[in-house]
Amino acid sequence: MADVTMDKLVSLCKRRGFIYQSSEIYGGLTGAYDYGPLGVQLKNNIRDFWWKEMTQIHDDIVGLDASILMHPKVWEASGHVSNFTDPMVDCKQCKSRFRSDQIDLTAGCPVCGTKGSFTEPRNFNLMFSTHIGPVHDDASIVYLRPETAQGIYVDFKNIVQSSRVKIPFGIAQVGKSFRNEITTKNFIFRSCEFEQMEMQFFCKPGSDDDWFSYWRDQRMTFYHKMGIRPAALRWHRHGEDELAFYAKDAYDIQFLFPMGWQELEGVHNRTDYDLTQHQKFSGKDMAYLDQETQERYIPYVVETSAGLTRNVLMALSDAYEEQQLPDGDMRTVLHFHPALAPVTVAVLPLVKKDGLGEFAKKLELDLREDFTTFFDLSGAIGRRYRRMDEIGTPYCVTVDYQTLQDNTVTLRFRDSMEQIRVTITDLVTTIKRETKQYKRIEE
Ligand code: ATP
Repeated sequence: MADVTMDKLVSLCKRRGFIYQSSEIYGGLTGAYDYGPLGVQLKNNIRDFWWKEMTQIHDDIVGLDASILMHPKVWEASGHVSNFTDPMVDCKQCKSRFRSDQIDLTAGCPVCGTKGSFTEPRNFNLMFSTHIGPVHDDASIVYLRPETAQGIYVDFKNIVQSSRVKIPFGIAQVGKSFRNEITTKNFIFRSCEFEQMEMQFFCKPGSDDDWFSYWRDQRMTFYHKMGIRPAALRWHRHGEDELAFYAKDAYDIQFLFPMGWQELEGVHNRTDYDLTQHQKFSGKDMAYLDQETQERYIPYVVETSAGLTRNVLMALSDAYEEQQLPDGDMRTVLHFHPALAPVTVAVLPLVKKDGLGEFAKKLELDLREDFTTFFDLSGAIGRRYRRMDEIGTPYCVTVDYQTLQDNTVTLRFRDSMEQIRVTITDLVTTIKRETKQYKRIEE
């Protein structure tokens, strides 16, 4: 952790094809990022890891993919039209803009240092709006969703009626959200277009405290399973001043990002607020009928709301290390959990000639059925290992002269740099077993 700075991450991400600034050739667009070949794979792997955890490991959770554009009344019901605002101030001297709740207004402008140069705070709605259809008037206004949760509440009845779910159960969704953020510094930590992984768990009023505690536990365990170092994760409970007016209780999981402890995910007890609001605004009954007891009630909701793109930043910062090697060399290594790494196995022939190149290529083709692979035959073997370390590839398989004689290869582990000799027929099971048993070596 000591090695990592935001500048180093930004530069590695651009150099190795993880993340680029959007529209860079035009000078870039603030708050928008493009995920390159390795970045999209890392992001998809994190998404899949979460999706599996939520919908496969927890068989009481079903999935949903609601549309980004929704009826504008949704956002009136949810409170976003009237309340989803941040207080904004401008520095009259240098024209920089800040969220007034994020800076010390008495200390002067963080950019130019001028004291007393701020405008009065003004509330600014974070929702992006656009128009549907050819006429741009108030009746055609639609919003780009600022969270995925509302799609889940609005489809709650559809899901109860069309699938065999029974309370308690959850609905999970991953998708894009948009917020017109005033300050978008810190790379992908806070962007205007981002992705969320949200799960809303519907339960009977009265059982909500138990479910709330269950989900807090589950969510922290999830990040440990993802290979994030426990010391870099902690809980923050919302104080009276932070708690949304409808929330009964709220905790954030914070991660130690390069700029300090910041929110990664929120676990909130939202009571029956959202469904009640949608019932009020839509005129549709949102109550749940318990078939066994014939009780009718509006369920309580425990929400787990994580940023996917913020998870990508966490995975990169937690993984990053500049390591001094025994031979005096330095290496940059990303210690991703093998299930998250964009490339799982690199296949490297020791040399191109004498049939080693062809042999290795064939082996790589075979491994593609089970893993994301990469084939590299250019440069000294040590340099090829370093390139793989820098993008976090957990396993390198090297084909050498002995391979041609006895069908064994060397399997090199990224973290320990240890190499073992494995028979090709055992390679897939060995890699799968190592992935399952993976534990990061503590620095
Ligand atoms: P903040 O107070 O920092 O603006 P928030 O508390 O409003 O954030 P939530 O609405 O609880 O955030 O969003 C849930 C999760 O979505 C956050 O924990 C974060 O991981 C992610 N998220 C929210 N806004 C952004 C953003 N602008 N860019 C990237 N991720 C975001």
